Amino acid sequence: MSSREFTVHAFVVRRVATGESDLVVSLFTRERGRLDTYARAGRRSRRRFQAGLSPCLLYQGLLSPARRGSLWTLEEMTVARPAAVLVTRPGRMVAGQYATELVRELCPPEVPEPELFARLDAFFLRLDQEPSPTWRDWVDFELGVLAAAGVAPEVECCVSCRRPRPGTGWGFSVTAGGLLCPDCGRGQAMPPWRGAWSEPSEPSDLSALSDLLESWIFTVLNKKLNARGLCRSVFAGPTGW
Ligand SMILES: [Zn+2]
Repeated sequence: MSSREFTVHAFVVRRVATGESDLVVSLFTRERGRLDTYARAGRRSRRRFQAGLSPCLLYQGLLSPARRGSLWTLEEMTVARPAAVLVTRPGRMVAGQYATELVRELCPPEVPEPELFARLDAFFLRLDQEPSPTWRDWVDFELGVLAAAGVAPEVECCVSCRRPRPGTGWGFSVTAGGLLCPDCGRGQAMPPWRGAWSEPSEPSDLSALSDLLESWIFTVLNKKLNARGLCRSVFAGPTGW
């Protein structure tokens, strides 16, 4: 390893084929945030680039300064932690790829985001464990990464008067930035917030809450994430996936 090379812990968040067998690979790294790299023979060399540069796997990568334009050079990627359950279950890969897409959109280039990285890492660990992930796992992941990125909705209290303990008559307003109590939300058309969502004995089906988060994420990113609908159908489907 030369003095200008450095190692990172990373997830692959985008791969674009270029040339005969090369790849432009975007990494989300623990050490330096999102980095765009060039992997020469990235589609061919299984020795330098293990497991096909798969999403959802934690890698250790070796990088060096750009040889072409502004892209870092990706010298090699070694699987740092296998995920035997996750990578063999299609439903879990769908969830993992959506998580990857969301985090990629939330992190600016070349800025370390250690909390965002930790949230994504923890979600992948969960996806690699039995039993099936739950709506709560997914909702907590989304709220967690939105908070880490500084763009979470207020769901602990009324965003206007700060009254705590959401309950009957409360609503969720994307334009207000989160929950509105019955007084502050009077006269506004907004989807209802169910008090049970904040309680320990919450319902296991959080699909309605997930739909509210979808509208929030759409507004925050100003774009629709293609993988989210597919991910939702996995969570809404049978258990045991
Ligand atoms: Zn209020």
